[in-house]
Amino acid sequence: MQEASYYIRLSNENKTKCLLCPKECVIVDGKTGTCGVRKNIGGKLYSLVYGKPVAIHIDPIEKKPLYHFYPGSKIFSIGTFGCNLSCRFCQNYDISQFHLDENSEILEEIKFVSPEEVVGLCLHYGLKFIAFTYNEPTVYYEYMYNTAKLCKDPMRNYEIKTVVVSNGQINEKPLRDLLPYIDAFNIDLKAFNQNFYKRLCNGDIETTKNTIRIIIEEKKHLEVTFLLIEHYNDDKNEFLEMCKFLKEYNEDLVLHISRAFPHYKLNFNPTPIKLLREFYDIAKTQLKNVYLGNV
Ligand code: SF4
Repeated sequence: MQEASYYIRLSNENKTKCLLCPKECVIVDGKTGTCGVRKNIGGKLYSLVYGKPVAIHIDPIEKKPLYHFYPGSKIFSIGTFGCNLSCRFCQNYDISQFHLDENSEILEEIKFVSPEEVVGLCLHYGLKFIAFTYNEPTVYYEYMYNTAKLCKDPMRNYEIKTVVVSNGQINEKPLRDLLPYIDAFNIDLKAFNQNFYKRLCNGDIETTKNTIRIIIEEKKHLEVTFLLIEHYNDDKNEFLEMCKFLKEYNEDLVLHISRAFPHYKLNFNPTPIKLLREFYDIAKTQLKNVYLGNV
């Protein structure tokens, strides 16, 4: 088990406060935080999923989705259990909402794959790209950080490009510490509405907006994904505001409008194609690079 970065121990009690994401969970001894994968053991915080990927695949880079970053490439992709959000419509809920609090014995069954082995496997398959994806990479921050840093080790000359696919719910300090080792991001912007974030995701939109701002300011490649769900985040004025917000930073920014299918706890119809086309037209009034996904 790897001791977590970004936490403090609170006074004389064995409580810890995690400072990795805006949840800033206060965790008592023997329990995990909201993400279900960072555990207080005797007053120290540990990442339970360090080196424990539950998904390893080779994907087309367009599947992340990234359309303007080395198109046509294949990317070695990993993910673990856990997420710091609990979106009621999560498309990957079987791994993202799996809490190790009650199920930690399963860790024994998952093979340990070190950062060196991740890089070795990527090179073994003749690939030059690694993605931290599937579940929310922030919750396996230390594993992602060490792997990405290894990819950029000047002594090894691996020349591997690194990609993070994230909900953007990460505090500024860990994000800034990670940035030197990441080449490209795809950030989910789930709505342009704090109420949606709170009610359906248990999240905070301002953090994701801040993450987008920092990534753009630091001149990393960024593409944004918006999952359009009929009757939940389909207010056209609100979407126009989102597009204007993105345009303020960069009108060349790539926006993916993705079709939603019912998953997990939320019941809705698959996004009508007509609605997707209407949102595409709205986005095109502000941004040059807009794509429809999942259609
Ligand atoms: S990363 Fe997990 S434990 Fe840390 S603050 Fe976020 S949800 Fe809580």
